[in-house]
Amino acid sequence: MKYIKIFMLLIFTILNSSCAKAASKKDANNTAHKERTTIDQSGLTQQKITNNLYVLKNPNYNTNVGVFIGKDAILLIDPMTGNNNQKQLLNAIKQLSKKPIKYVINTHHHMDHSGANRFFKKLGATIISQENAKYSNALYDITFKDSYSLDMGNENIKLYHSTAHTFDDILVYFENNNAVFMGDTFMTNSFPHFYYGGGGLGHLNIIDKALSLGNVHTVIIPAHGKLASNKKELSVYRENSVQWISSIKSLFNEGKTSEEIAENVQIKKLSTIFNNGRNVSKQSIQRTINKTISVDLVVSKDLSEKTLKNYEGIYEYENGQVDEIIYQNKKLLFRSKGKYIYEITPLSEIKFHIKGQFPNKYLVFKNSGNEFEFFNGKKNLIAKRK
Ligand SMILES: [Zn+2]
Repeated sequence: MKYIKIFMLLIFTILNSSCAKAASKKDANNTAHKERTTIDQSGLTQQKITNNLYVLKNPNYNTNVGVFIGKDAILLIDPMTGNNNQKQLLNAIKQLSKKPIKYVINTHHHMDHSGANRFFKKLGATIISQENAKYSNALYDITFKDSYSLDMGNENIKLYHSTAHTFDDILVYFENNNAVFMGDTFMTNSFPHFYYGGGGLGHLNIIDKALSLGNVHTVIIPAHGKLASNKKELSVYRENSVQWISSIKSLFNEGKTSEEIAENVQIKKLSTIFNNGRNVSKQSIQRTINKTISVDLVVSKDLSEKTLKNYEGIYEYENGQVDEIIYQNKKLLFRSKGKYIYEITPLSEIKFHIKGQFPNKYLVFKNSGNEFEFFNGKKNLIAKRK
């Protein structure tokens, strides 16, 4: 009996200790989970980066929102679309701090980043954007060209412009909090997207700028996908981007069509990696390849600076809309306030391809450059030099 008792006690102790181990492991997992991602009372997913810096995401709108709590006020980065989710976002912010929201930074003008600007402006916030955001319909107050810094009392936030995903991309660097917000120049759940601005080179340049900031522990915040990442993952993303760009380039130069390129084993493998393990449709891969070709691989005619500058000027459409052609940083830009900005590249002396646009859009100059025809993908619009 005594031996049975001892045996039972032993079994109980073993069971108990193993249960305790499992429980403590579970607790540890829970604690780690809490530190990583939590759902707050507003239903938003939340990740605490530091005591002053948070990333929030609404499950219905997948843009990551930055919330920085300064000494006296709050600063937001990319407060999402503004449709239906702004009040929910405001509630979530209020749970973090009751300080006033003083600034909103848009990493770029796209609606899923800037849509709630108006809502937060009404609450007293000042919107900060790169100056090319003027060529979009996003709301802005302060703009800058290359860099900008903002003293929040407990952090000096640095903003760096680079043309990559769009013409108005901003990297937001928190030196003390050791974090970089990358906007759509880094997404952990979709293809690299560099078609509306800097092409493949611009894409790699802005990643290199982000990698040069901070140290090995710097938190890297993508605009979509994970709430927070790190330099190791960003470096892998860079390497995959290089392979993506170079594979498309070599296959295109071999004469392959975008449909054939989309069937390439390496391209398919990279597509799955970029899309977080999801198999993406061939059409989606092909569309992305077409945009890559449009922004990087369309063969342009070598025209002199003088010839290109001849096209500079203001042009007016019949409906009174005014567009501008400007030569800047050895590139010819075609832009319209409140609407769009494109880089155009010559296919001939008079015909210009609009980079990154698919289906293709183009401009044809006529009458010695005194007017152009803009094919916007649907119809031809004629504008005359003012
Ligand atoms: Zn975007």
